[in-house]
Amino acid sequence: MRRALLFRFFGVLLLALAISSAISYYFIGNHMLDNNISNMQNTIHVVDYSLDYGEDIQEELIKLHASSPDQSLRISVIGIDGTVYADTETTQIQQMENHADRQEIKDAIAHGQGYANRYSDTLQKNMLYVACVSQKGDYMIRLAIPYAGILDYLVAIFPMMLVGIGIAFIISVILTFRFTDTITKPLREISTELGKVNYNEPNFHHRHYQYEELNIISNTTAHLTDEIGAHIQQIEFEKRVRQEFFSNASHELKTPITSVRGYAELLSQGFVQDEKTKQDFMIRILKEMDHMTSLIDDILMISRLETKEAEVTLSMVRMSPLLDEIFESLEPIATAYQVTLCRECEPIIIEASMQQIQELITNLVNNGIKYNHAGGSVTVRIIRQMQNMVIEVQDTGMGISEEEKDRIFERFYRVDKGRSKKMGGTGLGLSIVKHIVEYYNGTIELISTPGEGSIFLVTLPVLGEK
Ligand code: ADP
Repeated sequence: MRRALLFRFFGVLLLALAISSAISYYFIGNHMLDNNISNMQNTIHVVDYSLDYGEDIQEELIKLHASSPDQSLRISVIGIDGTVYADTETTQIQQMENHADRQEIKDAIAHGQGYANRYSDTLQKNMLYVACVSQKGDYMIRLAIPYAGILDYLVAIFPMMLVGIGIAFIISVILTFRFTDTITKPLREISTELGKVNYNEPNFHHRHYQYEELNIISNTTAHLTDEIGAHIQQIEFEKRVRQEFFSNASHELKTPITSVRGYAELLSQGFVQDEKTKQDFMIRILKEMDHMTSLIDDILMISRLETKEAEVTLSMVRMSPLLDEIFESLEPIATAYQVTLCRECEPIIIEASMQQIQELITNLVNNGIKYNHAGGSVTVRIIRQMQNMVIEVQDTGMGISEEEKDRIFERFYRVDKGRSKKMGGTGLGLSIVKHIVEYYNGTIELISTPGEGSIFLVTLPVLGEK
């Protein structure tokens, strides 16, 4: 890049020099020509004034020329018809050819004065001819001087021009290097920093540069790497959560499998003779199987909710009949735990997934029954609040301490593992509830007093403008 810029820079420099030289050459050349013509015209007037045309003009002219300090000056006296009457360059006037066809003469005849710049075969030089009609008679006086225009000076100024071009070249090299440095250095820095960016160190360090365009590049790169960094962090976090989830899930499944295997082994080896114990083992095996089934159901549910792969079918859900259905299905365990179920439900219809809403309420009411005491109650209130549907599940159970409040929504977290397991809990219920609430952009709030009971308040913005 540096070399390419240097070549361009130098090319532009040469072009600028060439253009300015051409313009100077043209204007200075013209100016010099005008000056020379004007000087020569003045000289012609003096000559005209000094000459006595009544005498021998040739002789007069030679005398006059002899007194001139510039011997390269050629003076001629020419008649209106082009006949040469006198000339300082020759003594053989009669042999001189007629000059009527010379440009300067033609112009002088036509306009009183004329000039021409041409190569003289006689003198073998480029000459400038200026002719004017005499004030005194039918003559023209013509002056000629060797004239090569600005080329005469070019030889003298050429070495200086070379020196000038050399200096300009050196300055342009220095300036180009400096200029390219201000661009290439930051670019090199940016690419070096970019090279350091990797999976473990996604941060891109950069400085502020002189040119805004470079800052745009570095800022955009920084922004991009920040985003990649955040993305990597998110992926890492999700990876960790998933790993944890799988290891917990396997662990949770391993326990019932081990006990099922134990009971089955004992039964198969024929050690258990007692029919009642056999029956008891069978019941335990079935219970463990049920637990595994609910565990697998919950694991599948949560993984589908998390990967958002679940095909959610939305329909118009009437809350009151749905609540009836839920209560009906939970009635047996409520009776078993001696817990009364109460309900208050406004006639609300929402557009949602029936399965998700059912799962949400069932989990909360189920917990209200499980973590309650005999004679206690669980009350469900479903009301409308602006654009929200509020589901309130209140129990008179054991309550949840302040420290446990956030943790109970974590997967597989249980305050009392033994009690939860005994009651067929998987530790995933509230986690599923939280996912469903988030799916509808809702909120879940827990108000609880240990020993007195808990209230789970779910607010779902599912009602729209009224
Ligand atoms: P589990 O299958 O164990 O019930 P959850 O995710 O539904 O799993 O609940 C997590 C833990 O939160 C439970 O083990 C229990 O300790 C506590 N918990 C949930 N609901 C209540 C409640 N209504 N009252 C008291 N504790 C509760």
